[in-house]
Amino acid sequence: MNPMSTQIKISGVNKIFTTADKEVIALRDIHLEIPEGQFVCLLGPSGCGKSTLLNAIAGFALPTSGTIVANDVQVKQPGPDRGMVFQEYALFPWMTVEKNIAFGLEIKGMNPADIERRVSDLLHMLGLQDFRQRYPKDLSGGMRQRVAIARVLALDSPIMLMDEPFGALDALTRRNLQDELLRIWSELKKTIIFVTHSIEEAIYLADRVVVMTYRPGTVKKDILIDLPRLRDPSTTAFNNLKRELSLLVMEEQQRHHHDEMKLGAVD
Ligand code: ADP
Ligand code: MG
Repeated sequence: MNPMSTQIKISGVNKIFTTADKEVIALRDIHLEIPEGQFVCLLGPSGCGKSTLLNAIAGFALPTSGTIVANDVQVKQPGPDRGMVFQEYALFPWMTVEKNIAFGLEIKGMNPADIERRVSDLLHMLGLQDFRQRYPKDLSGGMRQRVAIARVLALDSPIMLMDEPFGALDALTRRNLQDELLRIWSELKKTIIFVTHSIEEAIYLADRVVVMTYRPGTVKKDILIDLPRLRDPSTTAFNNLKRELSLLVMEEQQRHHHDEMKLGAVD
């Protein structure tokens, strides 16, 4: 595929959840074209449909209407071209770090020597060499999230989908992992769609920030971030973007708040 050619095309996507007592329009008429190699952040307040959109791209939960095409194929189910990293560490607690990373490759039937080589490379890339024999319960949150990333990288999907992967980490660990993710992204040339509700995280990481409206989730603003990396959050340019995005997100948070007042309910 050519660089900058469209890798993911989202056209007219709607998602409606029907529960016993109500219908929730989670996504309305989403259109996005994401070129190969772009680092995109989906930004918006809780409940605006970020996970719903990511899950639709992953093929875990399909849109009610509209289409998503990834790598020239319409998404109807999960596939090896799209790897997902969740916020909650989806590791197997009974497997060591290296087994967790190797698991997907064993399922694929890769030969043991190649698995060993790939796992070693990934342990190295993510600074996990000394932890390979440990179990998830004996790791810090940051280390567990490294393993989760390594596990998805092992499958070498061109597209990485990440749902608030650093949301549960302390500030310092979070910044370290952000920097590592940027390094891996520029080395491996993946396309990344990264969900966050942190404005600073979005500006720090992304080539492009897609701000979503609160229920129904639509694209409120689509902004290219043209600042050199590694970015310095103390600069004027960074802070101007922060102010601009804060206003947009705040408007949506207020809509959320009004909704709750009207309904007398919190979700
Ligand atoms: P975000 O990730 O931005 O916080 P979600 O995509 O999780 O938002 O949710 C968007 C909206 O859809 C919310 O109002 C949420 O309550 C609703 N929703 C999400 N998943 C379901 C589901 N399986 N059934 C019913 N409603 C859902
Ligand atoms: Mg979510």
